[in-house]
Amino acid sequence: MRFKFNSVKPTKVSKEEIRAICHACDTILSYHGKAPTKNVISVNFKTKVVYKGKTWAGLAYRQIAEFEAKKSLPYEDMVTTILHEMIHLYIPFSDKIEKKTSTLTAKLKPDVVRLANILVENTYKRAAYVAHCSISYGKVDEDHYDDAQWKRTGEDRKGKKYQRGSK
Ligand SMILES: [Zn+2]
Repeated sequence: MRFKFNSVKPTKVSKEEIRAICHACDTILSYHGKAPTKNVISVNFKTKVVYKGKTWAGLAYRQIAEFEAKKSLPYEDMVTTILHEMIHLYIPFSDKIEKKTSTLTAKLKPDVVRLANILVENTYKRAAYVAHCSISYGKVDEDHYDDAQWKRTGEDRKGKKYQRGSK
């Protein structure tokens, strides 16, 4: 999923954190088979989000895959708002829309925060790796496989319990 951000910047949450939150929400909702109506989601931060004469933390427009969020929200409220609005974009509930959306927001939020933290942590280290791999290594020697790809990460595997035959 790609996100297109307007030029208004959130005041209490970094752009790296915003990207991580949006991609974490997308990952979790996509993993569970949900999708928005377009391949690009427009995200518009605003000083004030107004709808029907009232002010809101956020607002979603499912048909055009766009949502708004108040730029001054602190981190956790920003996560709540982005996740809530993204659920509106990804899941068209037919009734009790706000009850279902807000309850699902509460349920998914802890994993969104965990995932967003992983994404944001090494943002510039990964960006450098991705940029560097496009620069030619080929001047020094022939194309070859780098054995480093098989090196063990040391990360604990959490999905083993779902393997067939396991108890
Ligand atoms: Zn809502």
